[in-house]
Amino acid sequence: MYRLNYKWIDSEYYYDGDDLGAVIHHDKTVFKTWAPFATAVYLNLYLDGTGDNRIESLPMEQLDKGVWYVELLRNCDGEFYTYTFEYNHKRLEETIDIYAKACGVNGDRGAVVDFSTTNPKGWDETPSPECKNPCDAVIYECHVRDFSIDESSGVAYLYRGKFLGMCIGGTKCEGVSTCLDHLKELGITHVQLLPVEDYATVDEAHPEKEQYNWGYDPKNYNCLEGSYSTDPADPKCRIREFKQLVQTLHKNGIGVIMDVVYNHTYYTEKSAFERSFPYYYHRVTENGKFTNGSGCGNETASDHLMMRKFIIDSLKFWVKEYHIDGFRFDLMALHDIETVNTIRAELDKINNRILMYGEGWTGGESPIHADKLAYKWNSYQFGKVGLFNDNIRDSVKGGTFNPYDKGFVSGNRNAVATLKRGIVGSVPHHELHDAKEACWAFEPTQAINYCEAHDNNTLWDKLCICAKNDSEQIRIRMDKLSAAIVLLSQGVPFLQLGQDFLRTKPRRLKEGEKPNDINVFEENSYNSPDFTNAVRWDRKADYFEVFRYYKALIKLRKSSSLFRMSMKWEVEQKLSFWKKNDESFIIFSLFDDKESFVIAFNPYEDDRHFNLPDGEWYLCCDEDGGERDEPVSGTVCCPGIAAVVYKQKHS
Ligand code: CA
Repeated sequence: MYRLNYKWIDSEYYYDGDDLGAVIHHDKTVFKTWAPFATAVYLNLYLDGTGDNRIESLPMEQLDKGVWYVELLRNCDGEFYTYTFEYNHKRLEETIDIYAKACGVNGDRGAVVDFSTTNPKGWDETPSPECKNPCDAVIYECHVRDFSIDESSGVAYLYRGKFLGMCIGGTKCEGVSTCLDHLKELGITHVQLLPVEDYATVDEAHPEKEQYNWGYDPKNYNCLEGSYSTDPADPKCRIREFKQLVQTLHKNGIGVIMDVVYNHTYYTEKSAFERSFPYYYHRVTENGKFTNGSGCGNETASDHLMMRKFIIDSLKFWVKEYHIDGFRFDLMALHDIETVNTIRAELDKINNRILMYGEGWTGGESPIHADKLAYKWNSYQFGKVGLFNDNIRDSVKGGTFNPYDKGFVSGNRNAVATLKRGIVGSVPHHELHDAKEACWAFEPTQAINYCEAHDNNTLWDKLCICAKNDSEQIRIRMDKLSAAIVLLSQGVPFLQLGQDFLRTKPRRLKEGEKPNDINVFEENSYNSPDFTNAVRWDRKADYFEVFRYYKALIKLRKSSSLFRMSMKWEVEQKLSFWKKNDESFIIFSLFDDKESFVIAFNPYEDDRHFNLPDGEWYLCCDEDGGERDEPVSGTVCCPGIAAVVYKQKHS
C-alpha cells in the first residue's frame, strides 16, 4: 500500500450522515459503514460476542460517498456483528465496526443494542449539575478500579473495582466515609474518570487474573470497558451500570468527565480502523510507515475529515446517550487545532458548558507541522479549550522528570516567578514580568491547575523523595501548602483521587533489588497491580487533618467568585501582589466591591509576619483550614510552610 491522496478522498467521499453503525428502526435494522475503495463488504451476524455461532454473512451494497449498506427486516437488538472488508478482491481480517456502540466480551464483536432498554429508572429526569464557568469546577481524577477495589473501601465484594462500586453510599473505613460519600464530603464538583471506553489489555473473560491497566490502550471508542461491569459478556450490562454511575453522581451534584484517547490505537495494523480502510485513519509516511507521535506505535489522523468526523460523532454520542459533562483529551497536541476548535463548536451546539481540556503535548514526533497542532504553545488559537498547567505543577513541587528536584513548597527559591504566573491563571498581568513561558492562557478558564495526576509520582511520594531529610510533619505542611496553591489560584483546580489523604503508590521490589529513595515508589503505574494503584481508605483516617484541610480549601474556593474569575481583565483588576523585599514569601490580595481577601504562602520553615491593610479582618482559613470569628487587625502571622487567608467584608 502507499500513502493515500487524502485531500482528494475527503473532497470526493466525505460523508456527513449521522447513521454510520447499526441503527434500529422499530422492526428493521440498518447497517452502514464507510469504505470508499473497498471492492466488497460483508456483514457477519452472530448469536454471541465470542465463539463459533455465526448466523449469516451478508454482502453489503455500495451507496454514494463510499458508504456500504445492508438492511435487515427485523429488530436485531441483542445480536452481535462484525464486518469483513475486501480490497482488490482480497479479504482483510474480519473486524468489529469502528462505529460499534456496544460489544461482547473483550470487544471483538459489536452488539446491536436498543439503547432505550438500557436506562436506569428516572434517567431522563435526572438533571446534570450546572457548571456556569469552568473555573467553578473542582476536578477529581479517579480510576474506576482504584476507587473501590481495596477492602478498605467498604464496598461489597461483587462491586469492588466496578462502575457500581462508585454508586454505593454509606461506606466507611475506621469511622471515616469512603468512596461516593467521600466525594460528597470533600466537595469536589466533577469526577474525571480515567478511560472507561473499551481498552485492550485487561482480559474481560478472566477477571480472576491479576491484571490492571489505566486504559490508555484504546480498542473501541464508542463502547464501554467490560472489566468494570459485573457481566462483560452481556453488552447491556456495562451500559446500564455506567449509566447508573453517571446518574448517581448527577443526583449528588457531581459532573462526570471522560478521559478520551482518540490520539492512537492500541493495535495499529490490527485495529478496526486499519481493517476497515487501511492507511486512512492513522498518519503514515510516504512509504506507508505508521508515525509515532503518541509514543505508543502510531497516531490517528484527526486532519483527515472522516477521522475528525469519527471523533466528533463519538463525543456527541457520549454526551447524548450517557449525559457526559466534559472531556479530557489524552495527548491532545496530536489533534490539529482545526479539529479541536471544531469539536468545541460542535459540543457548544449541544451545551456550551460541557468542559473540554487536554494535554498540550505529544508522546513523540508527529509529521504534522507543530504550528497546526494543539500544542500548549499554540494555546491562543484554541482559547476555549483548557490545557494542563505543567508550569504551576513543576513550580509547586519540582520537575516531574527528576525526582530529587524541589519546588516552591520544598524549598526551591527559584520557582517564585513561575508560580506567580500560575496564581493569576497563566494570563498576562501587569505586575508580572518574568517567567513569560508560564504566561500562555487566553483566559483563566484555559488553565487546568494541578500538582498531582495519574502520571509520575504522587505529590506525597515526590515529597518523600525530594524532601527525604525533612520530618513527616514538615512534608505534610509541604503537601498542604501545595493544595492551597492549586485551590486558591485562578484557573481550574484538579486533584487526583486520594491526594487529599496523601496517596502513595508503593512499588514491589524485584527479587534481589535493594530499596533506595526512589524505587520503593512507582512513578509509572499504568499496569501495576492493585498493591500499587488501589486507594487505601484507611489513610483517610490516618491523615484526617490533611483531608479536612483540602475540604476547607474547596469550601473557601466555592465561597467567593474572586477565587474563580473567568476573564483576564477581572484578574488584572481584582488581584494584586504585595510588593516586598522578600519575593519568596508570596502575599496577594483579591478584592471587589463586596469583599477582600489577603492570601499568604510562606515557604520558609519559620513563621513570617505581615501587616494587614486597615480595618477589621477575619482569619477564614488557617494552616489547618480553621476559621475564627474574632476580628483581627495589624500584624498577623503566617506559620512556616503554610498558607493563611484573611477576609474583609465591605459594607
Ligand atoms: Ca476491554
